[in-house]
Amino acid sequence: MTCHESALTRVYRFSNLKSIVLLSICLFALVSITHAAEPVSLKESDNEKWYQGNLHTHSLWSDGDDYLEMIADWYKTHGYDFLSFTDHNVLPTSERWTVPEKNKGKLHAYEELKKRFPDWVEERKNKEGQTEVRLRTFEEVAEKLGEPGKYLLIQSEEVTDRYKNMPVHMNATNLHSLLTPLGGTSVYDVMQNNTNALLAQRERTGQSMMIHLNHPNFHYGVTAEELMKVVGENFFEVYNGHPGVNNKGDEIYPSTDRIWDIILTKRLAELKLPMMYGLATDDGHNYHKIPSRASEPGRGWVVVLSKALEPEALVDAMEAGRFYASSGVKLKSITYSDQGIQVEIDPEEGVEYTTDFIGTLEGYPKEGMPKLDKQGQELHSTKRYSKKIGATLKTVKGTSASYDFNGKEIYVRALVRSSKLHPNPSEITDVESAWVQPTPGPAAPKQ
Ligand SMILES: [Zn+2]
Ligand SMILES: [Zn+2]
Repeated sequence: MTCHESALTRVYRFSNLKSIVLLSICLFALVSITHAAEPVSLKESDNEKWYQGNLHTHSLWSDGDDYLEMIADWYKTHGYDFLSFTDHNVLPTSERWTVPEKNKGKLHAYEELKKRFPDWVEERKNKEGQTEVRLRTFEEVAEKLGEPGKYLLIQSEEVTDRYKNMPVHMNATNLHSLLTPLGGTSVYDVMQNNTNALLAQRERTGQSMMIHLNHPNFHYGVTAEELMKVVGENFFEVYNGHPGVNNKGDEIYPSTDRIWDIILTKRLAELKLPMMYGLATDDGHNYHKIPSRASEPGRGWVVVLSKALEPEALVDAMEAGRFYASSGVKLKSITYSDQGIQVEIDPEEGVEYTTDFIGTLEGYPKEGMPKLDKQGQELHSTKRYSKKIGATLKTVKGTSASYDFNGKEIYVRALVRSSKLHPNPSEITDVESAWVQPTPGPAAPKQ
């Protein structure tokens, strides 16, 4: 087996260790933007543009409270370039009718729908004499609101699985057909099984698609140690806009930022697995009272440098790490080279910016301490690791920030925080931020 044999998708066929290891090597070659002799500068040019999109959205097809077309319209009128619909374990492809009074959007959503799209709503009476509305399919909504090169809708799914009482939710972006949650014998196994199913569908259809782990701290379902081992899954949500997903963790459970650093360190230095990239998403469910403390749109997104506003190009760009995640901060450019990282911020007037360069240097203590409950039993939590993992290596104020490698870095990433509070945050104290994707440093073992 070689990289040319589409190793990315072979994991479901070959489960022996040799194949997995080779797969990892090939994956790394595919997804890594670094170790390049030439600097890689992510900025707009004649060939490439930054595209803003949200990869996590719920509608009346599952537990959201609005119609697909209204949600698509919200994102379109708020400056987004693309949007993925990710309802729980369903693709919006079938004929489905709903009684407005009984669905999550109630009569209000129905009245708003009729106001916005008066000649488009399909109604009928059911046997009880109640009005039913047909939920429009993905295809219909994409045709109505999508505009080539301007606004793209992507068919996706939140593969909503669990192990015992631990939720394991994974978003499958640009799916061809439904993925049924496969379950498994552990949290890790659930993730690996669903990842393998997506890779198999990708191989079978030839369609570009990707999978990412959602909100690891939702009910603290997924630990860093579990996620870091998954092969073929190179993305997770470092920021999810739902107020109930504990991005910041608590006194026992680490934040998603901390989880990311532990994963990056272990994947690169110990597991010889590819980089994992961080996403910001909305996970919107509630569309009728913005802002409030529910799960609303507009909180977190990705900005992808892509050749085209098409699912294939966007997935390819994200797999190559050519994007950043944001909850409000805009970037002009990111440059990766064998010298270091440079970030240029697109500033907002009156706002100040602080950039932390975060990474792990070689020689860090590898062992983690299990977390115990009051009875001394081990908790299902990420272990406690040395502060040398994910250390802040440099802090820069201003709109231009750079970090020069000293030779010892396993990886470095940048987190830009603004002085501006998020206007409608996931958690009350959130400031607008941007997460720059990590790059392997000079001390990253060669894959
Ligand atoms: Zn979820
Ligand atoms: Zn969700």
